[in-house]
Amino acid sequence: MSGIFSRNPTNRLNLITGKVLPMRLPLEPYKIKMVEPIQLLPREERERLLREAGFNVFKIPAAAVFIDLLTDSGTPAMSEHQWAALLQGDEAYAQSRSFFRFQETVRSITGFPHVIPTHQGRAAEHILFTVLVKSGDVVPNNIHFDTTRANVEYLGATALDCVIDDAYDPYREHPFKGNMDVAKLQQAIRTYGRERIPLVMLTITNNSGGGQPVSMENIRQVSRICREYRIPLFFDAARFAENSYFIQQREAGYQNKSIPQIVREMFSYVDGCTMSAKKDALVNIGGFLALRDEGLAQRIKELLVLKEGFPTYGGLSGRDMEAMATGLQEVLQESYLKHRVEQVAYLGGLLQERGLPVLKPFGGHAIYLDARAMVPHIPQSQFPGQAIVVALYREGGIRAVEIGSLMFARRTDSGNWEFPRMELVRLAIPRRVYTVSHLAFVAETLETIRRRSSRLKGFRIRYEPEFLRHFTVELEELA
Ligand SMILES: *Cc1c(COP(=O)(O)O)cnc(C)c1O
Repeated sequence: MSGIFSRNPTNRLNLITGKVLPMRLPLEPYKIKMVEPIQLLPREERERLLREAGFNVFKIPAAAVFIDLLTDSGTPAMSEHQWAALLQGDEAYAQSRSFFRFQETVRSITGFPHVIPTHQGRAAEHILFTVLVKSGDVVPNNIHFDTTRANVEYLGATALDCVIDDAYDPYREHPFKGNMDVAKLQQAIRTYGRERIPLVMLTITNNSGGGQPVSMENIRQVSRICREYRIPLFFDAARFAENSYFIQQREAGYQNKSIPQIVREMFSYVDGCTMSAKKDALVNIGGFLALRDEGLAQRIKELLVLKEGFPTYGGLSGRDMEAMATGLQEVLQESYLKHRVEQVAYLGGLLQERGLPVLKPFGGHAIYLDARAMVPHIPQSQFPGQAIVVALYREGGIRAVEIGSLMFARRTDSGNWEFPRMELVRLAIPRRVYTVSHLAFVAETLETIRRRSSRLKGFRIRYEPEFLRHFTVELEELA
C-alpha cells in the first residue's frame, strides 16, 4: 500500500505533506463509534476458498472477505439514532405505534396515502405484479433490475427495457443516463396496446444501467404519457434520495431546491412505488409499497396478509419499521448525500487516474469496470467480468460482482448463446461503511490487476441452476 499517496506525481492526493487535496476528499460526515474487525487472509487461504467456492464469490464466507463491495443492499452502517429507535420498537401484532411512525414518515416524504410494509423490495414487486400483471402483458421500465425482471417473467409477462440508447455506451457522458426513451415507450404502447401494459416503471437511480439518475424532466414526460393512456406509473424507488441529489446537482432549476422538495416533486408525478429499504432507507432489511389508489391498496393488502403478514407489519418487526423511519429521514440530509455521491466518485477518480476503464459518468452507488476493455483476450463466452472479480479476491480479498454474461447470457432455442451488450464488474459501495483508505486500497489492487491483466484467464461453467444463475453457479478456470 505504499504507492497511492506518494508514488505518482500526477496524483494530487498527498497525505504525507498534507498539501493540495486532489479530487475533493469525500469527508465523512460522521465518526466511528463501534468497529467491526476485518482481516486480509493469506493468499494461499484465499486461493483455496476460491476453488472451494467454484470461483463464485457469492459462496465465499463473508468473514474471509477483506473489503466487501458485493452490494450496497442491506449493508449500511446504521446511525446511533437508528440503533436507539430499534429499542423503541412496538411489537404489537396489529396497529403498532412503530407502524404509524413509519407510515407517517413515508407519507410525508412521498405524499402517498397508502403505505404497505414488506420484508424487502422483491416482495413488494411480487405482490404488486401479482395484483396487476397477467400472462402476455408487457411491463416497460428504463432497465428492469434483476429481481424485477424475474418477477415480471415469473407471471408470464415481458419485461421491456426502454432506456435511452446512450445508457449502453459505457463512456458517454450524459447527466441523466438513466432516462427512459419516451419514443421507445410510445412505440411499445402502440405495438402492444394499452390493455397489455398494466403499468410502467421507472427505476431511480437506474441500478442495472450503472446507478445512473433519471431527470425530473424525464419523469414528467413519462408521467404525461402514462396519464394520457391511463397507465399507472410506479417508481422502483430503491435509490430515490441519490436520484434527487443528482437532480439538485445537475438539472437546471433545482440548485436551490431542498432534497425533500425535490423528492416530493419526483413522487408527485407517479402513482406509487416499490421500495427496497435496504438501499436508501439505510437499513439491513425491509421494504415497502406506497401508492395513491385506495382500491389497488386494498387488493394488495389482501395478498399481503397471505404472503407477508398483517398490513401493519408485512414481514417486518416493529423495530425494523422504527429503523426504516429514522433511516428515511437521515438519507435526505444533504451532508449525507453529498458524501455518499462524492465517495463513489472518489473511487471512480482514483481508478480513472490509474488507467482503468470505468463507466462514465460515475453512478450513485457503485463504480463499474468495463471488463471487455480490461481483458480483451477473454471472449464473452468465457466470462471476462468474472475473471476480474476472481482477480480482485485473489489479489486483495476484495469482493465485487460480475454484471455481464455470467448474470445475463442466455441459451436461445437453437442452443446458441445470446450475450448481453456490456460486460461489467460492479464495485458497490456500502453506505457509511468504508473509509478513504479502504477505497485507496481497492484502487491500488486494481492497478496491480490491470498491469498483469493479460495473464488473467477465462472460465467455464461446471454447474448452473435454472434461475438467477450467478448466485449459485460453479466455475472452472480455463488453462
Ligand atoms: C435491490 C433492488 C431491488 C430488490 O430489492 P430487495 O430488497 O433486494 O428484494 C429492486 N430494484 C432495485 C433497483 C434494487 O436495487
